[in-house]
Amino acid sequence: AFDVLIVGGGPAGAAAAVYAARKGIRTGVASERFGGQVLDTLGIENFISIKETEGPKFAHALEEHVRDYDVDIMNLQRAKALIPNAGPGKDQIEVQLESGASLKSKTVIISTGARWRNINVPGEHEFKNKGVAYCPHCDGPLFKGKRVAVIGGGNSGVEAAIDLAGIVGHVTLIEFDTQLRADAVLQRKLRSLKNVDIFTNAQTTEITGDQKVNGLVYKDRATGELKKVELEGVFIQIGLVPNTDWLKGTVELTKHGEIVVDARGQTSVPGVFAAGDATTVPFKQIIIAAGDGAKAALGAFDHLIRTSAP
Ligand code: FAD
Repeated sequence: AFDVLIVGGGPAGAAAAVYAARKGIRTGVASERFGGQVLDTLGIENFISIKETEGPKFAHALEEHVRDYDVDIMNLQRAKALIPNAGPGKDQIEVQLESGASLKSKTVIISTGARWRNINVPGEHEFKNKGVAYCPHCDGPLFKGKRVAVIGGGNSGVEAAIDLAGIVGHVTLIEFDTQLRADAVLQRKLRSLKNVDIFTNAQTTEITGDQKVNGLVYKDRATGELKKVELEGVFIQIGLVPNTDWLKGTVELTKHGEIVVDARGQTSVPGVFAAGDATTVPFKQIIIAAGDGAKAALGAFDHLIRTSAP
């Protein structure tokens, strides 16, 4: 059995592994895809101390750093269930894998991350990283002075539009519903901005382009008319979905599926910690996930020294 078993090998899981291993305790990482979302990222320019790098290169460096320590890395393993109070003394936590195997540990750190919800229209997949983006903090500066659209009028969409309006030339916000769903204070701020157009009751039907995005087509749902907007970028902001389906019923989740954690990363189940995009920690970024993973590992270590027999 492990002392700390980490489920998920993105920035949060990798940082947790290094911090746990440096305490000299038995540490394992089981993950479906070591590197996580970073593997799908083109350029990273906001991980402090690394001016500029590429996602796959960063992911490789994460794994190299973890391999420098005595950590049992189990790749291509997908967790399907978490069972607290397992083992003969009921003092272990079991993680069942889809492969049929099962792992036991005194503490578990869940860092299974999240994924952006896709809009599933023609052009979205084709132009990913070629004008189609999901993260304004990450990719906003790439569109300096250009025209972009934000799809989605909830809090994240409206926040993104306000943020981008300060960087890009022009923002078109497109919302499917007849009204924006963001908080009133955000809507007021958005409407006060001169370089923003807002279209509600508008269904995006296509993202167009050649080598890169050059426009977007939406349907005016009131009239059924198709309209085209010329632009260079599209930010899709229709939700970030935490990879926590497998935890339903065992660990407390918010209505959005985020794992509820306290300031030390402790979840509602004693001995189970969580870190990164899968949790309630605000702002989903690499540096935040990594810091969060370190914190959860120290939280787990603290739990171990208080609860384990010498
Ligand atoms: P993730 O990176 O999502 O890692 C989750 C891990 O868990 C993976 O190893 C996954 O395979 C594994 N996993 C999931 N489910 C299971 C399961 N059931 N069993 C086992 N393993 C599982 N942030 C920045 O700071 N700067 C950027 O420039 C930037 N650009 C981005 C660009 C794109 C296209 C995307 C998608 C994201 C970007 N982000 C960026 C956000 C950043 O990648 C995330 O905030 C960060 O990766 C979160 O780390 P994490 O470890 O919490 O989760």
